[in-house]
Amino acid sequence: MIYLAEFFLHLLVFMAGAGIFSFLNVVIYRLPRKISFVTGRSHCPSCDATLRWYDMVPVFNWFYLRGRCRDCGAKISFRYPAVETLGGVLALLCMHNFGESAGAIAAFAFLGVLTVVALVDADTMEIPNGLVIGLLIIAAAAWGCGLEPGWRERLIGFACVSVPMLLLTLAIPGAFGGGDIKLMAAAGLFLGWKLCLVATFLAIVGGGLYGIYLLAAHKKGKKEHFAFGPFLCAGMAVALFWGEQILEWYLGLFRF
Ligand SMILES: [Zn+2]
Repeated sequence: MIYLAEFFLHLLVFMAGAGIFSFLNVVIYRLPRKISFVTGRSHCPSCDATLRWYDMVPVFNWFYLRGRCRDCGAKISFRYPAVETLGGVLALLCMHNFGESAGAIAAFAFLGVLTVVALVDADTMEIPNGLVIGLLIIAAAAWGCGLEPGWRERLIGFACVSVPMLLLTLAIPGAFGGGDIKLMAAAGLFLGWKLCLVATFLAIVGGGLYGIYLLAAHKKGKKEHFAFGPFLCAGMAVALFWGEQILEWYLGLFRF
């Protein structure tokens, strides 16, 4: 019986996370197009048919319909169930890492906004200011609830990556986008300086490898840019869960 209760708790948390990220799919689609995501029901972008409530069951519905619109048969991007699955997995990870606490909710909210930032940046090469403000509000709320880290670490986190990025961009115009700099300031306030540094390190490694891949595959010229935001966001998500372990491992390399 206990195992069954555990199973249903996990299923419930997964579906709640997937449901919330299903709404974030709408935000990712509508935000750059300046459509309100509070009003108006979801509709198929091909045939305009309004989605029925039973079309909005996260993850499972996409597989049930085999990735096609019920009305016109147009293909629905695999990104939708992928983002929903990510939401479910992140909700479970938050519960396991932070327990059933305010910290888990703050971490999940932080990861939700990061997901929107990453995909909007990948689509448009821009990070809307509203999302940065959202991160600031979540960081302030976490701070207000007395969650770790303390205010000193948060304030240093606000500046430790954003200020060097800003200086580098002043020296080499176009080194980083303004959105990336603001993102790292707001996110640093949430993560604190230690995890913020780990996240940036991971993003530089990931972005560097991706850049090498693009050059090797001749997909982009040397002068062109790709969105760096998704790498920063992924780095922050990894740092949030495993940053302390990564830091210990890294520092251990220098211990003899
Ligand atoms: Zn359709």
